[in-house]
Amino acid sequence: MIGSVDIGGTKIAVGMVDDSGRLLSKMESSTEADRGYPDALDRIASMLRETARNAGAEISGIGIGSTGPLYPFTGEFGDVDFLHGWQGKNPVQDLERIFNVRVAIENDGDAAALGEAAWGSGKGKSRLIYVTIGTGIGGGIILDGRLYRGVDQAHPEVGHHIVDPSGPACSCGFRGCWESLAAGPAMLAWVESTAPPHYLNRKNLTAKRIFELAREGDELALAAVKRETYYLGLGIANLINLFTPDMIVLGGSIMKSSDLLLAGVREIIRQGCRFVPFEKSELALASLGENANLIGAARVWHHRFKPGADRVA
Ligand SMILES: [Zn+2]
Repeated sequence: MIGSVDIGGTKIAVGMVDDSGRLLSKMESSTEADRGYPDALDRIASMLRETARNAGAEISGIGIGSTGPLYPFTGEFGDVDFLHGWQGKNPVQDLERIFNVRVAIENDGDAAALGEAAWGSGKGKSRLIYVTIGTGIGGGIILDGRLYRGVDQAHPEVGHHIVDPSGPACSCGFRGCWESLAAGPAMLAWVESTAPPHYLNRKNLTAKRIFELAREGDELALAAVKRETYYLGLGIANLINLFTPDMIVLGGSIMKSSDLLLAGVREIIRQGCRFVPFEKSELALASLGENANLIGAARVWHHRFKPGADRVA
């Protein structure tokens, strides 16, 4: 049984995952990064013990998916925005010492990509890109069955390729990157800045609410969904032109409204991907749901320590 740990800016989830990707027990704690890394490590260790007890399992390895940047092969955190003061801390070494098992860590987008490729929608797909669209846009790239890593083992940032250089400023330093135009907060910001003063639905707006309003026929919300479809489609079309993957797996809160988006996204792909066999690049919805990162974290262990486990034709 693999212990899995999903470390995010707001919460830490821990679970037990069997060899076929089933999550057998789970616990959560808010991250509270300011309480310090040792405090979080203690909580992770005690949640691992308790979830193992609940599942009646013995932990044979531990996989971690975490918000990054991080160094997957040393196990160290880089300068992580959301985990202030954790830079240089090493949960891989610490959990190895505490549990006396092998531990592996990857960026959470990569962990979810590995999970979807092995146990989710992307099962059997050799070239797969996982994209999660929520408060930001992240993801992971699997090429020839293995997690793609860049120089210095770096995790590529699919959310920060430029879609419109005259677009809004992003924390990455550019204007108009995909995340700044197609993530949930971009939808909300556009509606808030476009709505006329008398717009009645201004109160308690969220991206989720905008989709609901669109279903009710609200014209501004429909325009926001059209705009979301356009920018989502441009980014996905870019990925298809660049990688010609077997499949793009889409997850995250925005994709809960995929029925309002995907037909338009496919139309944009048709318009601009004619030099590649775009009709063979499948679009699929993530199937591991809200536990994609946690289940993927267990897959991180398999991918690292069972060479060949992820290879498909
Ligand atoms: Zn950016």
